[in-house]
Amino acid sequence: MPKATPKVVLSSSAKPKQQHQTRRFYWKGYHTTKWRKRRKTYLEQHPSCVKCAEKDIETPAVVVDHIIPIQDGCDPWDETNWQGLCVPCDASKRGKTKRNNKG
Ligand SMILES: [Zn+2]
Repeated sequence: MPKATPKVVLSSSAKPKQQHQTRRFYWKGYHTTKWRKRRKTYLEQHPSCVKCAEKDIETPAVVVDHIIPIQDGCDPWDETNWQGLCVPCDASKRGKTKRNNKG
């Protein structure tokens, strides 16, 4: 009697992982400890959102944003290319790249 039982692989739960391609770029460096440390230090040194500061509003920065996007070829670790943003400012930057000049 062969002891081997046939392995039946149920693939019913296998979903195609294909999602429609978004143009959003995700830098792997965000997952590194190095980034977290650098980010934390940067936010300690730049505690206010730069976008809000332009409007004379003081909002704590919680996001380190790359002024020139990484996908455009900038050095992700270059702090001169960083800016501290609050969540709404970061979201609006991501949401609409179109600049609306009012005022
Ligand atoms: Zn802001």
